[in-house]
Amino acid sequence: MRGTGLALGEARCSVCGRRAVYKRAYSGELLCGRCLLRALARSVKRQASRSGGFRPRMGVVVPAALEAPHLGLALAMALHEATRGLDVTVHIVVPEGRGWAVEVPREVLARLAGMGRVRLWRARLQLRRLPSTLRACIRLDRAWSALAARQLGAGAVGLPVTRTTATLAAVDALLRGEPWGLSEALEESVYIGGIAVAPLFYSVEGEAASALAAVEGLKAWGPCKPESLSWGPLMSVLHGRPELEFSPAKAIGLLAGQLRGMPRCRLCGGYTPRPGVCPDCAGVGLEAVEVEPLHEA
Ligand SMILES: [Zn+2]
Ligand SMILES: [Zn+2]
Repeated sequence: MRGTGLALGEARCSVCGRRAVYKRAYSGELLCGRCLLRALARSVKRQASRSGGFRPRMGVVVPAALEAPHLGLALAMALHEATRGLDVTVHIVVPEGRGWAVEVPREVLARLAGMGRVRLWRARLQLRRLPSTLRACIRLDRAWSALAARQLGAGAVGLPVTRTTATLAAVDALLRGEPWGLSEALEESVYIGGIAVAPLFYSVEGEAASALAAVEGLKAWGPCKPESLSWGPLMSVLHGRPELEFSPAKAIGLLAGQLRGMPRCRLCGGYTPRPGVCPDCAGVGLEAVEVEPLHEA
């Protein structure tokens, strides 16, 4: 991964002067681990405020998403930092299904559980098959996380969809000629059965979110690899280039504005070409989600 420490030598954090571990490519800032966490926590707070913000004593589900499980853990940490003093509970939910699981090393789980206000859960998903595209993967994450949130009595879900991923989803939707795929590129929250599902890393570039995971040692592996979820050539052009990731947001918003009246899938909340269940949800066949406590030790 470009820029995540090790080669920075004695470089100092641009904010606080401590030893820097990361150079943020799009801003040129040098950051220490603490200031990187705080910067992403501020982004998460701003993003959440667009859908009502955090209320004291609320619960927020953050999935170790199939789309990017390590970024889910990084989001949980940034969210925890963003809600200091608010007594918000961060429910980290790790999914598994028949023949697959998102794996999080025991020491990582123990560290997260030790932060306070964090609870760990395992979600068993009954699926017909794993998603094979980025869009289907994000939609599945939204659908199962919303069901898990309802079981846990949490009012909101934070998804670790970054600006980079949203841009990929937009380009993918346009190249495929499937404009209904633009709902995965939008920053607005989607409501599924009364649960607000928000892309809380929407204003964060993928590289910075990955850097937080790397700096904090937040490792996790899932059954869906990024290369297999989006087109290889597209990924090689767009991925890790934050200079390409900030201008498309407005264009995406304008395009999506044309789609406002389109029906939404009742499982994932995404746009769908016909009412009911979208082609992606129909493909993976999510039937049930069971949530139970995850004991890290
Ligand atoms: Zn610093
Ligand atoms: Zn759907």
